[in-house]
Amino acid sequence: MVRDMVHVKLTDGCCRECGGELQVTDADDATMQVVCETCGDEYSVEPDAFGDGGVEYWPAIMVELEAAE
Ligand SMILES: [Zn+2]
Repeated sequence: MVRDMVHVKLTDGCCRECGGELQVTDADDATMQVVCETCGDEYSVEPDAFGDGGVEYWPAIMVELEAAE
């Protein structure tokens, strides 16, 4: 299934392996799943991992997930 992903601004966070741009692909109550656009590394982070206090990216991906159901 293809769904819209949430793009993380480089000023907010980047790939822990290569510094590339990240997309948020999935989330639950405690984590977000991110994938690197450059190297393809995929890992989970805290909902507030990108310095937004958990009020920007996490709600955005949750909306996308609900819309996809
Ligand atoms: Zn990377």
